[in-house]
This record gives sequence, structure tokens and C-alpha cells, in this order.
Amino acid sequence: MPRRSSLKVGISGVRGIVGELLTPQLVTTFAEAFGTFVGPGPVVVGRDTRLSGEMMKNAVFAGLLAVGCRPIDVGISPVPSILIKTNRTDAIGAIAITASHNPVQWNALKFVGRNGLFLNRYEAQELLDIYHQSEFSLVETDAYKWVDRDDDPTREHFSALLEYLDVDAIRERNFKVVYDSCNGAGSLFTSGFLEMLGCQTEGVNNVPDGLFPRNPEPKAENISELCEAVKAEKADVGFAQDADADRLAIVDEKGRPIGEELSIALAVKHVLSRNRGPVAVNLSTTAIVDHIAAEFDCPVIRTRIGEVNVAEAMITNCAVIGGEGNGGVMVPAVHPCRDSFIGMGIVLQCLAEQGKTVSELVAELPRYVMVKKTVECSTEIAHSIMTVLRKRHTDAGQVDTTDGLKITYPDRSWVHIRPSNTEAVMRLTVESPSPEKARELADQFAQEISSLC
Ligand code: MG
Repeated sequence: MPRRSSLKVGISGVRGIVGELLTPQLVTTFAEAFGTFVGPGPVVVGRDTRLSGEMMKNAVFAGLLAVGCRPIDVGISPVPSILIKTNRTDAIGAIAITASHNPVQWNALKFVGRNGLFLNRYEAQELLDIYHQSEFSLVETDAYKWVDRDDDPTREHFSALLEYLDVDAIRERNFKVVYDSCNGAGSLFTSGFLEMLGCQTEGVNNVPDGLFPRNPEPKAENISELCEAVKAEKADVGFAQDADADRLAIVDEKGRPIGEELSIALAVKHVLSRNRGPVAVNLSTTAIVDHIAAEFDCPVIRTRIGEVNVAEAMITNCAVIGGEGNGGVMVPAVHPCRDSFIGMGIVLQCLAEQGKTVSELVAELPRYVMVKKTVECSTEIAHSIMTVLRKRHTDAGQVDTTDGLKITYPDRSWVHIRPSNTEAVMRLTVESPSPEKARELADQFAQEISSLC
């Protein structure tokens, strides 16, 4: 990772390499800004298992206390549990300390509003303004609060899940499940959750020591250990999470990763078969979602990239299901946030209700091939490159410029190009019913972007 990107301050929070530009002083100042933004009151603070998490957490406490907030320390916690606790208690906001799928040297602060959603771009801009102007509501000596502890971070989350799922149907099947939490926040909670659903569990990478044994992104190439374990254990299914347990990848009973995009596809099919309504996904999510929604005669709303954009679209459009193709399943009946646990519950319920295997469920879905590429490109010129690309391809097919450039061709192939929010790269996502066409389009656009960078 180039040094120039070792600190990113933006709408998705503050992210960086700890000890380089992400210092305790900076963390405390951001916590002061956030406490000023939400006002005095209880603020949930949770973290993933990264070794820097304890330092970061205490720096966050100092900042929050300085502006009269009362931090609620939930310790190591899945991100969806932090969001749901914030939504279902009297907390006025939360700070999640996690760099999610980034390598172990990284960490980040993610800011959450009273509603249990990440700050949207307008709220994030307001927070950044407070930060840059250093206008903090520091309190007098007699107004200091204290740090409260809540030792059950998943209480509200899991009780909502157990209410939503058909627990009896799942329990009856006594599934055998192998899970891989990447030694992240899921390590402490995933087996307990699966056991509540009557599963026999086996974990790989389930020691919350903050040392990631694999790349935390739950992509097919990173979860071979889980695949082997599913085969060896003759399990019904394998589940892989990222470090903060919001994303889910699934491995079938033969030990094959089904691909992150299919987590959302299976969930959409399950939810729409019970409850028809709008679906909200981001622009880079698989077109399989559109096929499934069309079968049920339900509309699909496509949003900008970023979990909060999908969440807000879900609320505005009364969506019944949605998420992101990177393994982010969002069920608003529980909470509109990416949640690996709801994803696991839905897959188990599908298996229980339909009496099929994971590979049989996958075989029923339309086939698409997705190719993702990144092209190095400085943030300064990324936007002018997007302008050039938009002009060049304006008549290429159905064009959507909501977030970067998305072109959908008549043969259902599509290309989505956008500058990354977190790294100095352009992200290129291509999908097509034809594997050759997917590769061809990906190569063609990658070359075109490189020639402009
Ligand atoms: Mg994550």
C-alpha cells in the first residue's frame, strides 16, 4: 500500500495504518468531534480483534468524555451488533473501531448515528467540518461522565435474529456447520449463534487474537482452509466472515466457495418468496438479483456504493431485502445493515425448508460471471478520467452515472467503473452471462483506464 494512502479521512470514516498517521491524538480529536456532533449522551463503542483496538478504544473514550458523552464499552463486537444496539437502546450514536477487511496494520473509526446507521455523506461532512474547525463542546470539570460497560454486545442483535428466523425448523435439522471468522469479531460469537440454531459447529480461525491468519476479505481465494474443513468434516455448509463480521461468504457441502455475490442472491430469493417488495442493492451487485426480483415481479433500486446508501434507499422505498454483492446481506425487518449472522440464518432456513443442499440451491440461480479489477490512479485525476469515460461511452448501452459510470449492454453484460473511496485506485466491475465476454470487457476497460491515468 503506498504511503500516500496511509490515512484516509472521508465519508466512510477515518482509516489508516496505526502509528503512522493514525495516532492516538488524531483518534481522540475525532472522538471529540463526534461527541460534539451527537451531543452529550450514551455512545456505544466497540471494536474488532485487532491488537491496536484497545489503544484506539481508550483514545476514543478520552475524546468522548472530554465533550460530556458517556461511552458504553461493548468490547470486541461484530459491527452489526453495534449498529443494532445503538438503534434499540437509548444510545445517541456509536463509534465502531475496525478496518473491516483491511490488513492487520490498519484500523479505522466508523461513525454511527442514533438510528444505528453509519453517517451519510451530509452528516459525515458536518462531522468533518467540526473536526477541521476544532470547535468542540468541551465540558467543565463537574460535567464529566464515566465509561459504562455492557458485556453482552450481541443481546439486541441475536434476540432480533431469533425472532425473525424460523428457529424450530432450523433446529430440527441439526446442521453441521464449519465457520471461519478470520480470528476477527465473529470468533467470539459465531459458534454461540449457530448453536442457538441447533447446529453442530466446527471453527477454523476462531481465536480472537487479532492476528489474521488469512486475508480478511472472505473472497474465494482467501478461504481455502475453510473449504478443506467443510470437506473433511462432511459439513452441510461453510460460512466465512470478515474481521468485523458484516460480510458473509458461503461454501457448499462439497467444499466449493459459491462466490460472495451469491450470498445476497440466495437471501433475496428467500425473502421475496415469503414477502414481496422492493429490493435495494448497490450498482456493483450481481444482475442475478434483477432476475430473481423479476420472477417475483418486484422492483430493484440500485444505489451508490456504501452501506449507508443502500440502507437509506431501503428505508425510503420500504425495501424488504437488499445489500451488497460483496457478501453484505441486509434485512430491514431486523435492521438495514450488512449482517453476516442474518445471512447464515437465512441460508440455514432455506436448507431446512427446502430440503436441498447448498449446491442444489445454487444450481437454481441464473449463471453470471463477474470479473473485478483495480487500476492504480491518483485521486486527483480520477474525477476528470470519469468525465472522459462518460463522454466516450454515452451511447454504449444503458448508462447510469449515479456513482461513477455503469453501462448495461443489450446482452445483459454490464461494466461499472468508479474511483475508490478508500484507496488511490479505480475499481472496475464487469459481469456477463458469458465468461469470455466478461473477461474481454474487463481487459478492454482496464486498458482504457490505464491509458488515461
Ligand atoms: Mg466488514
